[in-house]
Amino acid sequence: MYDIIVIGGGPTGSHTAHLLAEKSHSVLVLEKNPGVGQKLCCTGIVGLECVNTFNIDDKVILKQANSATLYAPSGEPLHIERPEPQAAILDRSAFDKFMAKRAQSAGAEYRFSSRVTNVNFNSEQANVTVADGDKEYQVAAKAVVVASGFVPGLNKRLGLGDFKDYAVGAQAEVSAPGLNEVEVYFGGMAPGFFAWLVPTEKGKARAGLLARAEAGLLLKKWLNELAEQGKIKSAEVKISYGGIPLKPPPRTYGERMVAVGDAAGQVKPTTGGGIYYGLIGAEIAADILNQALEDNDLSAKRLARYERAWRRKLGGELRTGYWARKFFERLNEPQINRMFRMIKAGGIDEALLKAKDVSFDWHSKTIKSLLKYQIFKKLS
Ligand SMILES: Cc1cc2nc3c(=O)[nH]c(=O)nc-3n(C[C@H](O)[C@H](O)[C@H](O)COP(=O)(O)OP(=O)(O)OC[C@H]3O[C@@H](n4cnc5c(N)ncnc54)[C@H](O)[C@@H]3O)c2cc1C
Repeated sequence: MYDIIVIGGGPTGSHTAHLLAEKSHSVLVLEKNPGVGQKLCCTGIVGLECVNTFNIDDKVILKQANSATLYAPSGEPLHIERPEPQAAILDRSAFDKFMAKRAQSAGAEYRFSSRVTNVNFNSEQANVTVADGDKEYQVAAKAVVVASGFVPGLNKRLGLGDFKDYAVGAQAEVSAPGLNEVEVYFGGMAPGFFAWLVPTEKGKARAGLLARAEAGLLLKKWLNELAEQGKIKSAEVKISYGGIPLKPPPRTYGERMVAVGDAAGQVKPTTGGGIYYGLIGAEIAADILNQALEDNDLSAKRLARYERAWRRKLGGELRTGYWARKFFERLNEPQINRMFRMIKAGGIDEALLKAKDVSFDWHSKTIKSLLKYQIFKKLS
């Protein structure tokens, strides 16, 4: 029997596996794909705080970014730039492989093409049912870490409940040789959310958007417009999709179980970025599980400490971010255009760029300071 089985070899599963294996616990990671870093749908932008906190290898960073241009629905641009890089654009596949390798070096075992279909818990252990091609078998552990990403069916089956709100992301790799910096677009191409063009390497870029529904159709339409404008070379590209939780599920722990990353809704509701918060969740989970394994107490009551701890760290950000998300979704295009004009005319962009507490990852202070301005007071 393993000490821990991790369901999913994404970044948060691998990070939890790494930290627990480092503490000499036996860890098995079950990944449904034939390897890590496959079938991904992610832009891979993280703040430098994330890179530094989790010692992300420079080799998986494609580019750093210190500027971006935001476009209002009217097309009016708002350029923001800081002297120092703020964010890194990761090679997401290489990043997942790097995280898995680090876990394997610490002693974690990986099994690929191993899809977890269910887990049964009893007072002694967690029995994990694994489908590997035509074969189905069981493997046992003292506890499981659910790090399977946004998979509502599995969350429900394991008793974690349903995600109450989520968005769908659609993205494609495009050829955009003239693109030099991140571009973010607001308006009809992504109602209530935003679309992006993010340069990666050798004239390539990631083009994507978030939406509540029909993300693929919206992206196809937008890509055709970009191709007509000459911004990208062709709209004939393969689109990938992914769900993004905007709110955590009702529970992120149970008897002999914790959930981390997207499975726990540890995602910024403002942007849908989940890598940094998910890794923070993984670190807290590993710490609580390590103590619980040492005390041989993996009861739901004991593991409730995990949910309390991660909510103490991230809960305020998730609540304020969700409020801001709903506020933004209520605005119509003329209101967003007005907001852009007022930000520029009132020097709000300059003030924010100079403010020390404006962060790529922690948005609640920025959201609260924006509400001091008349334009946001009027709209809210
Ligand atoms: C279009 C789009 C763009 C995004 N851009 C960004 C961004 O720029 N920055 C950012 O921070 N975040 C971004 N995100 C979010 C980010 O991708 C996720 O937050 C992040 O991948 C969560 O990591 P995770 O380890 O929790 O889950 P995942 O990365 O989803 O990993 C879960 C793993 O579990 C495996 N799995 C699933 N079910 C099973 C099962 N039953 N059995 C075994 N294995 C299973 C999967 O194959 C996968 O390998 C984006 C998301 C989308 C959709």
